Amino acid sequence: MARTFKNFVDGEWIPAESGATLENRNPADTTDLIGRFPLSGRADIRRAARSAMQGFRLWSRVPGPARGDVLRRVGDLLTARKEMLADAMTREMGKVLAETRGDVQEAIDTAYYAATEGRRLFGHTVPSELPSKWAMTYRRPIGVAGLITPFNFPLAIPTWKMFPALLCGNAVILKPSEDVPHTSHLLVETLLEAGLPPQVIQLVHGGEEAGRALVEHPDVGVISFTGSTATGSSIGETCGRMHKRLSLEMGGKNAMIVHEDADLDLALDGVLWGAFGTTGQRCTATSRLLLHRKVHDRFLARLSDAASGLVLGDGRSAKTQVGPLIHADARDKVERYVAVGQEQGAELVLGGARPRSRRLKAGWFYRPTILAGVTSKHRVAREEIFGPVLSVIRYSTMRDAIRIANAVPYGLSSSLYTQDVNLSFRAMEELDTGITYINAPTIGAEAHLPFGGIKQTGNGHREGGWEVFDFYAETKVCYVDYSGTLQRAQIDNYDD
Ligand code: NAD
Repeated sequence: MARTFKNFVDGEWIPAESGATLENRNPADTTDLIGRFPLSGRADIRRAARSAMQGFRLWSRVPGPARGDVLRRVGDLLTARKEMLADAMTREMGKVLAETRGDVQEAIDTAYYAATEGRRLFGHTVPSELPSKWAMTYRRPIGVAGLITPFNFPLAIPTWKMFPALLCGNAVILKPSEDVPHTSHLLVETLLEAGLPPQVIQLVHGGEEAGRALVEHPDVGVISFTGSTATGSSIGETCGRMHKRLSLEMGGKNAMIVHEDADLDLALDGVLWGAFGTTGQRCTATSRLLLHRKVHDRFLARLSDAASGLVLGDGRSAKTQVGPLIHADARDKVERYVAVGQEQGAELVLGGARPRSRRLKAGWFYRPTILAGVTSKHRVAREEIFGPVLSVIRYSTMRDAIRIANAVPYGLSSSLYTQDVNLSFRAMEELDTGITYINAPTIGAEAHLPFGGIKQTGNGHREGGWEVFDFYAETKVCYVDYSGTLQRAQIDNYDD
């Protein structure tokens, strides 16, 4: 019998107030029921917010280094549980074990990075314009942070948000993706074991209703969201109206440019990993491949050959290279886009169908797909598909390539393969994305560097690295005047 899991609210594991649940099934084998999870609503968020406010009052008084010590213990426990977590994650999300191990490792890196930051939450001391007066800044926690996360990085994305938020002294309410609730359950168990005071973390499972209630709750002062641009836009409207601090990390339509002088072996490995890793379900996935006309035919033939040999299957099998899509809707969407691409004139070079093997019938599999002859006007070159579909575009000059790469509403990641150092730097400067890789695919962010995109991908904040600590804290300025007289800034030191 499948287990029924609970929310973690106000220091207790409890069901949703309505008693409703949702099913969590293995996308590689939908007969495998992982468990039932609460389908929460407004009442559950209300209770979580009330408790989180109390948690905040306690936790914000704990010194930064001591908060960091808790996160170091979290890092140690995640390290000890890496294999168990990776296995559970593959079972509910579908990506292969090597990738879910990477996902856990990103959480571990983020925990240790945040732990050290506890001794380094620097403010500034700045000379005052007046004598016998000090001026300085320090970081003050905001309050309760509401974290809303997508399905594709079940541990890395929640922890990118949660660890810096906690380190800065905030309490958090996590509303994970309804498609991957088990990993968040395991994360919260780990946090509690590491000694995080219970009210500092609240876990509320569910879908849109719970997410919306979290965004709309007046006591949740800061929202961090990663997911689709459509959802992010509606969250943005609410937060704008309520004057909430908001970080949005949304969709992508990332291009890899393979120039005429590129090392084609290297580029081939890069595009296979960039386009078909995680079954194309990464915000940074390579979804457009721009090939210089001199290498176009040769490279496309090699790519098609290599991609046709990728092994589909359950991500927990050592042979599998490409797992399933997350659910039926995701596969339907991929199918629709492949049809639209062909209707608009693209040529189907590979894939374009579900696999025929009976072994794969019980999962949401789709064959790695390549569409060639695509132009910037085609929808498959502009819209996020979020599946194993690569659109190939031919170009003649680097100026064209950069123009085409930039001709999308998104701006997350880009990549260029070339041996020419001048072109590399030009591309780094001119590609309109938050991240550019040279001689590497569009994926591969490291936890200690800022991560995020421009245009419709983001709203100016970054996850990861040092910048995220600014997001989860308010800067407070303090002046101390020890002159014993009234000193008026801008007035007393200028005698007109
Ligand atoms: P999604 O937008 O469907 O859902 C994301 C989260 O939002 C889920 O927890 C969902 O329950 C919640 N939600 C849905 N409607 C809501 C509402 N009205 N108010 C509040 N919360 C709501 O996204 P998904 O399908 O889980 O993930 C895929 C998307 O995430 C892709 O577009 C991908 O590009 C994006 N993504 C972006 C990044 C990045 O860093 N830029 C990283 C990973 C994924």
